[in-house]
Amino acid sequence: MLVDMGGGAHERFGQSQAKISDLSLFAISHVHPDHVADLPAVLWLSNRFRKAPLPVVGPSGNNVAPDISTFLSRLFNDKTGAFQVMGSALGSKQPYAASSVRLDISVVDVKQKKPQTIFDRDGLTVTAFGIPHGDMPTLAYRVQTHGVSIVFSSDQTGTDPEFAKFAKNADVLIMHLTIGAGDKNPFHAAPDVVGRISQEANPKRLIVSHFGPMDLDLAIAELKKFYTGPLTIGADLQCTQVL
Ligand SMILES: [Zn+2]
Ligand SMILES: [Zn+2]
Repeated sequence: MLVDMGGGAHERFGQSQAKISDLSLFAISHVHPDHVADLPAVLWLSNRFRKAPLPVVGPSGNNVAPDISTFLSRLFNDKTGAFQVMGSALGSKQPYAASSVRLDISVVDVKQKKPQTIFDRDGLTVTAFGIPHGDMPTLAYRVQTHGVSIVFSSDQTGTDPEFAKFAKNADVLIMHLTIGAGDKNPFHAAPDVVGRISQEANPKRLIVSHFGPMDLDLAIAELKKFYTGPLTIGADLQCTQVL
C-alpha cells in the first residue's frame, strides 16, 4: 500500500526497490501538492510492469478541491487531461494514451461521521476517517494486516477528538509535525496538540513526519511534554518493523 505521493515519492519509491506490481492500494489523504505532486510520475509507464488494475481511494471534494475521481480525470482524461498520454489510467483505448496501469477509483465522503472500511482484500483491511485540515477535504487511514495496525494521520488541525479514538492502540501511529512550538496555523496542529492526541491514542510507537520550516528540536521537545511513549523521528527510506 502506498499512502500519498508528494514531491520525491517517485524517486524514493524506486530507491526502496518497491514494485508497482506488488501494490494492493494507492491511498490519497488529500490533493495538496505535497501529497499528490508525484502521482503521475509514479504511474508513468506502469502498464509495462503491471496488468491488474490498481485500486485508488481518496477524498470527496468541495468548493476548493475536486474529489479524487475528478482530480484524476483532470490529470489523465485522454482528451482534456494534462497527461493525455496516460489516458489508459482511466480506461482509454487510444493507442497514444497507453502509458499507465488502469486505476480502479473509489471516492470516500469525508463528511461521514464514522470510519468507513474502504478496502478489504489481499490480507489488508483499510478504514478511512475524515479529519479537519482547514478547508481541504482530508482522510486519515487505519490499516490492519497480519494482526497489526498502522494509522496514517495526514495533515490535520487536531481539533476533532474522534481522531484519537480512530487511532487508538495502533501498533504504529504516523503523525505530521509541520509547525513549530507555539505557532498557529489554520491547517496544522502545533507540537503540543500532536503530543496530546498521540498520548490519548496510545500507540506502541509514534512516528513523526512532514516537517515544516521550523526548529525541529524545539518542536520535538514540546511534543515530548505531552507524549511519553516510544517515538521515531521520520526520515526518507526509513523502515519500521511492525510484525
Ligand atoms: Zn495539506
Ligand atoms: Zn502536507
